[in-house]
Amino acid sequence: MSVAHRALQIRLPPLPSIKDVIRLYKLRALRELSQNFLLEPRLIDKIVRAAGNIQNNIVCEVGPGPGGITRSIIQQAPRKVILVEKDPRFLPTLELLGDACKDKVDIDIITGDILHTDVAHFIPPDVKVGWNDPPPPVNLIGNLPFSVSTILIIRWLEAISRQEGAWSFGRVRMTLTFQKEVAERMSAPILHKQRCRLSVMCQNWCNVKYKFDIPGSAFLPKPEVDVGVVTLTPLKQPIIKLPFKLVEKVVRQIFSMRQKYSIRGAQTLFPEEIREEMALKMYNIADLDPVTRPYQITNSEFGRLCEAYKAIITEHPDLEKYDYRAPKKKVITENLDEEIM
Ligand code: SAM
Repeated sequence: MSVAHRALQIRLPPLPSIKDVIRLYKLRALRELSQNFLLEPRLIDKIVRAAGNIQNNIVCEVGPGPGGITRSIIQQAPRKVILVEKDPRFLPTLELLGDACKDKVDIDIITGDILHTDVAHFIPPDVKVGWNDPPPPVNLIGNLPFSVSTILIIRWLEAISRQEGAWSFGRVRMTLTFQKEVAERMSAPILHKQRCRLSVMCQNWCNVKYKFDIPGSAFLPKPEVDVGVVTLTPLKQPIIKLPFKLVEKVVRQIFSMRQKYSIRGAQTLFPEEIREEMALKMYNIADLDPVTRPYQITNSEFGRLCEAYKAIITEHPDLEKYDYRAPKKKVITENLDEEIM
C-alpha cells in the first residue's frame, strides 16, 4: 500500500474485537440466515482490498453482521457506507460503529432483506456516470449468506442487463464471497469441469475474477465448505446482446443435460412433437455442431444459438410460451439453488 493511500485511512477508536462483540451481545449464529462470521482482521482486510481503492466511494455492504468487514471498509475512508442486514440483533453493534465514525463517514443502516432492497435509493445522484464510462465510485461488497448468494447474483445480473437499480449509476463493481464451488462455476471457462449455466450468465454480463479462497476454518461457526472471493465488473457490451430471460431460458435448457450432446438439451425448448426438427433447425441457423457438449460451447456460440432461437420464435410466436419445466414448477422452486446451477 502506498504512503499516500495509508495517510488517508480512518482511525477508529478502540473497539472490542468482533469475537468479543459476538460474546457481549450474545449473538448466537443463526443457521437459517447462513451466519458464519469472519473474525480474522487479515482476511477481512484482504476481501476489502480486493475491491480496489474505495476511498471516497459509496460502499454498500450486504449482511454486515457484527461489523468485521464494515470496520475494514470504514478504515479505507469511503464517502458513505450503506449497510443492509436482515437480522435486527446486529443493529446495536452497527449503530455503535456508526457512532464511532459519525464525523468521518456517512452511514445508512437498513434492517431488511437484500432480495427486497433497492440500494439505488441510498446512493447519492452525483456519482452517476454513463454506462460506457469507467465504473462509478460505487462498490457492492459482501460476505454473502450462502442461502441467498446464487439467487442474488442472478437477480443482480438481470438488473445489470437492464442497467437498473445500483447499475442505473453505471457499471458498479462487486466484491462478493460464495461457496467455493459456486465461485468456480461463476468463473469457469469452456471445458472446465464446473462450466455451467451460471458461468455463461455471469460471464455474459460481467468480467468475473476469482480472487482467492478463504478456508472454512476462518469462520465462526465453521461452514462445511471453503469460500471463494469473486469480483465482478459489468461489461460495456454483453457478449449475447439479447434479453436476460431469453438467454437464461436457452442456456438453462441446453445445460439441463450437461453430459449429453447439447442438442438434446436444446430440444427441450420445443414441444415434443416438433422437438427434434426445431432443435436441428436452431443448430443449422446457428451454424453449430449438434454433437458439441454444453460445456464446450463458448459464450459467443451460445449467442448464435440464442439468436437462432429468437428467429424461430419470431416465426412461430406460440413456441415462445413453451416451458419444459411447467408441470414440475413446484419442485423446481423448492430446489432453487440446485436448479440455478
Ligand atoms: N459480514 C459478516 C462477516 O463477514 O462476518 C457476516 C457474514 S454472514 C456469512 C452473512 C450475513 O448476512 C449475516 O449477518 C446474516 O444475518 C445476513 N443475511 C442473511 N440473509 C440476508 C438477507 N436476505 N439480506 C440481508 N442480510 C442477510
